[in-house]
Amino acid sequence: MQSLSDMLPHELREQLTPAYRAEQVFAWLHQKGVPSVDDMTNLPRELRASLAEKFSIANCSVARKQVASDGTTKFLFRLHDEQHVESVVMRYNHGTSICVSTQVGCRMGCKFCATGGQGFTRNLTAGEIAAQVYAAQRELGQGITHIVLMGMGEPLDNYNNTLRFLRLITHPKGQNISQRRISLSTCGLVPQIEQLATEGLGVTLSVSLHAPNDDLRDSIMPINRKYPIAQLLAACKHYSEKTSRRISVEYALLRGVNDTPAHARELAAQLQGMLCHVNLIPANEVGRGYEASSPEHVQRFAQTLLRHKINATVRRSLGKDIDAACGQLRNRTESR
Ligand code: SAH
Ligand code: SF4
Repeated sequence: MQSLSDMLPHELREQLTPAYRAEQVFAWLHQKGVPSVDDMTNLPRELRASLAEKFSIANCSVARKQVASDGTTKFLFRLHDEQHVESVVMRYNHGTSICVSTQVGCRMGCKFCATGGQGFTRNLTAGEIAAQVYAAQRELGQGITHIVLMGMGEPLDNYNNTLRFLRLITHPKGQNISQRRISLSTCGLVPQIEQLATEGLGVTLSVSLHAPNDDLRDSIMPINRKYPIAQLLAACKHYSEKTSRRISVEYALLRGVNDTPAHARELAAQLQGMLCHVNLIPANEVGRGYEASSPEHVQRFAQTLLRHKINATVRRSLGKDIDAACGQLRNRTESR
């Protein structure tokens, strides 16, 4: 069954006449975020019945919810086929941000990642990615201002649905979230980064680098054997030239693996001349044999980058007491 939640206004107009009905349906789905045609109270009863017969609507129901002491809220959402994905809502001074999933599982197999250890089940549809935003807003009674595609899955491995999600969520007749308030995080699928640069979007690209040389990156991120660091950073530079956006480089510090001053100097050399900002993240320990670097190692790493004129900050770690690293909650639930 086709899903109404995946359709842009011009596509809804092909299914629905007169045109203003299509506009109404789009607004119900993407401005108000309703989960059912029954909620579309300004549509005639017969139209609602025929829509419900012909089309589905994406929805997420809350399977589990955890609230951390800092207010970070983590949802485990159940999809229509009993699959589960996670989303995390974080409150900052500048607004409320949601981290959404793009796939059930992931096929990239990064060694330190909870999702990477689960294998791949399926892609999410564009409507299902958006449904996480709407369900969280309903649950929290609060608007979402920023979106990060940093939950379970590799967004660029689900390229078409991710792109469609971006078009839906930024649509002026829907949530109208600014491109500048959206970050897409990737492990480094080079051809898709190149394609994304041509889409006329202004979303921030976050690149999960996590290692300053190919030998080390090969050993923790299998994708590096296909697209090594030089190719990846060239694609990032190209993206930032095309979009005038600064690249966000993600670097999780893994104790004794990638966290020495020598690694920091090597990273600084790789990033020279690139419009970027490094986010240092003390690794989350997800039971895959990697430990977090000590706070002293994290600070020393940051200082070394700064001395080499590379912008870097240590990311405040929100939701520590609730397994806020994506993949962890699903792991716990499914192993019961
Ligand atoms: N697949 C995409 C987006 C989802 S992962 C990507 O890899 O970028 C979101 C972020 O969490 C990535 O930067 C990823 O490298 C990071 N991450 C995964 N496992 C982690 C862990 N155990 N500790 C810290 N960061 C982790
Ligand atoms: Fe997939 Fe990202 Fe985890 Fe790697 S870090 S396994 S790409 S979700």
